[in-house]
Amino acid sequence: MTTKSIIDTRREQMFPTLDATEIERVRRFGVPRAYDDGEALAKVGTPGHGLSIILSGHVDITQHHQSGARTPIVTHGPGAFMGELAQLSGRPALVDAHAKGRVEALIIAPDKLRALLIAEAELGERIMRSLILRRIGLLETGAGGPVIIGRAGNGDVLRLQGFLRRNGHPQQTLDPETDVEAKSLIERFEVDAGQLPIVLCPGGQLLRNPSEGELARCIGLVGRIDPKRVYDVAIVGAGPAGLAAGVYAGSEGLSALVLDCRAFGGQAGASSRIENYLGFPTGISGMALMARAYNQALKFGVEMAIPDESISLERDAGHSDSGALVLRLSNGETASARSVVIASGARYRRLNVADLDAFESTSVHYWASPLEAKLCAGQEVALVGAGNSAGQAVVFLAGNVAKVWLLVRGPDLSSSMSRYLVDRIAGLPNVEVLTQTNITGLEGRDGMLDAIRWRSSSGKEVRRPVRHLFLSIGADPNTDWLSGSGVALDSKGFISTGPDQNAGRSELETSRPGVFAIGDVRSGSVKRVAAAVGEGAQVVAALHRFLSTNRDGKPGLKM
Ligand SMILES: Cc1cc2nc3c(=O)[nH]c(=O)nc-3n(C[C@H](O)[C@H](O)[C@H](O)COP(=O)(O)OP(=O)(O)OC[C@H]3O[C@@H](n4cnc5c(N)ncnc54)[C@H](O)[C@@H]3O)c2cc1C
Repeated sequence: MTTKSIIDTRREQMFPTLDATEIERVRRFGVPRAYDDGEALAKVGTPGHGLSIILSGHVDITQHHQSGARTPIVTHGPGAFMGELAQLSGRPALVDAHAKGRVEALIIAPDKLRALLIAEAELGERIMRSLILRRIGLLETGAGGPVIIGRAGNGDVLRLQGFLRRNGHPQQTLDPETDVEAKSLIERFEVDAGQLPIVLCPGGQLLRNPSEGELARCIGLVGRIDPKRVYDVAIVGAGPAGLAAGVYAGSEGLSALVLDCRAFGGQAGASSRIENYLGFPTGISGMALMARAYNQALKFGVEMAIPDESISLERDAGHSDSGALVLRLSNGETASARSVVIASGARYRRLNVADLDAFESTSVHYWASPLEAKLCAGQEVALVGAGNSAGQAVVFLAGNVAKVWLLVRGPDLSSSMSRYLVDRIAGLPNVEVLTQTNITGLEGRDGMLDAIRWRSSSGKEVRRPVRHLFLSIGADPNTDWLSGSGVALDSKGFISTGPDQNAGRSELETSRPGVFAIGDVRSGSVKRVAAAVGEGAQVVAALHRFLSTNRDGKPGLKM
């Protein structure tokens, strides 16, 4: 049986045609432009100039391969429009587009496209849906993204694949042990096996085992932040709290910059299925929910800087806008804003067992996504944890692996896991729950686990040939970067907020005026997606109040 692609199943929604009246309505957002036969309207790896509505003539959209070959995707005719999600923010194109005969088009630049999507509700919805579906189509085929060449299962290959997948960017991986094209590319670029993986970027650059930041810059995922610009708000963290703050700030007219050191979605993006978020009775994967929020923030003109890590928060003494707060980034750049929202969440706790770091890139996982499920398909795996995220991971993995050993330190699951998950786990024949059990040793070579040893209440040590270990044992706040900022933390390192910090402060304001904290990083917050999103919405009202009384450097911004 052949699996149908999204282009087969959703073609009409993916490639809608605007009628003459609709084109007239949107004409005010664009500028007309003519192209000669064969001229490029878009080139993979080159920043796009927005959405192009074809007024006359035809445009061939093709996928570009490393071998130089092109696969046709679609041919657009009059009334059709060209573009996908990258056009919302002027990021590099992921496909090639060439005029077939003379073409006249209406070019709608990214800022005008965002204005159109908001001003034209029904038409905007149709266009937005098609842009999203087109990106999903590209994700399915890997078209337009970088090509990673390296051994399947290699730690760096997994790191780069994980980074691109979490950022919703198309990619392809070629294994030189099984793929002839990969082998010949390695020979052509004279790469030693020890230098793998290499990455071929759509613009033609070759990267040798790059960091996530290098890769992101090469493919245009992230650009430079203008150090002179002062945003109304800079939001640190693009998890549910930070994305919600971005969406509400952007939709209410504030200029907002969202930074994240890894990917959008935060911990929620790692959740295989969120079943307790309002409005999704059948559940939704964390990645799907967070991708919607990310696209929504882009639509409202929020600027994204991902991956960019904030390493300190200071008051900008030298800036002409005397009230500005400044975030210093690990790459040496700075971002200035009149207010800052800290939504940096929490990071997974590591297990205290010898040699854990030796296996962390390949055999020890902190979340269970389809990528990890594929790696351990048909095998025995072990998972340590007893909270809801552990429960969800077990349910997800059980459908993909031969057996899941659920290792629990305490006497039972019910004191820490929701009843529905406890019941679901009890009904899974390939899950064995071992309570009062601790891992005592990890065995393996070259970063790959061969076996795990554990000891339960009987005192007997058991050794199982388990090659993949999942850890879901809680999280610590991401607040190390705030040391020296003067933002007050509680005894566990979470950020303290509210009137206790200073009389007259809003519930979400920290000990520093104009600096707010929301979501998991905030002391006393409910550690749930819905709570994080709620605080993201709530903080924007507090930002408005703060900005209206502190614009033009009025009192209240001294740090
Ligand atoms: C596997 C898993 C499953 C879960 N399932 C559910 C569920 O089903 N239902 C539910 O309600 N909750 C669930 N949770 C909890 C939920 O995901 C969190 O409560 C929620 O994500 C918190 O959102 P947040 O935005 O506050 O922080 P986070 O999601 O932690 O996001 C913080 C972001 O900040 C970034 N960051 C950190 N430091 C910096 C820095 N210095 N500079 C730049 N960026 C930085 C991080 O990269 C991260 O993306 C789950 C958690 C996990 C791990």
